[in-house]
Amino acid sequence: MSKLPIVKFPHSVLRRPAGEVPPAEILSSRIQRLVSDMKDTLAKAPDGVGLAAPQVSVPLRVFVISSEASSIDAGMRVDANDANKPQKWEYHVFINPVLKKRSREKTTVTEGCLSVPEKFGEVSRPAKVYLEWYDERGKRHGRGFTKFFARVLQHETDHLDGLLIVDRAKRMLRVSRGER
Ligand code: ZN
Repeated sequence: MSKLPIVKFPHSVLRRPAGEVPPAEILSSRIQRLVSDMKDTLAKAPDGVGLAAPQVSVPLRVFVISSEASSIDAGMRVDANDANKPQKWEYHVFINPVLKKRSREKTTVTEGCLSVPEKFGEVSRPAKVYLEWYDERGKRHGRGFTKFFARVLQHETDHLDGLLIVDRAKRMLRVSRGER
């Protein structure tokens, strides 16, 4: 596994709609290495819970989400700054994800993005979604998501469509280090 460089706004690869991975190629070494490198890259980005392939300059419909997102939903204490207690997260892989349903109910939350450093945006999104996707073994899945995990899924799906929090936010906030 190797850590890949994360591209930053306004890089053009972040704006290009990403292409589908042919399902027959999910088990190819190219896609398996991409998934492995993306997990490694996210593991080494303490501020991030999700990473989409366009953020590592690969215009494909793939993203990974850390199980830290589920822990936040479960109300577990998460302290990335506590070096004495390194967290061992798992990484969920989503290939060709499609948001099939979105709830009418929305919530507004302040979001950050590894490709938009030092800034946060207040983004309104549907509270619940139903997603269909392939995992890294080529198996198809479909299920509903709520709370923070549903939000991260929508943020990452936006990346695959070339959208960023700067497009979605009602208001952008600049936050200096130390206030985070
Ligand atoms: Zn992002």
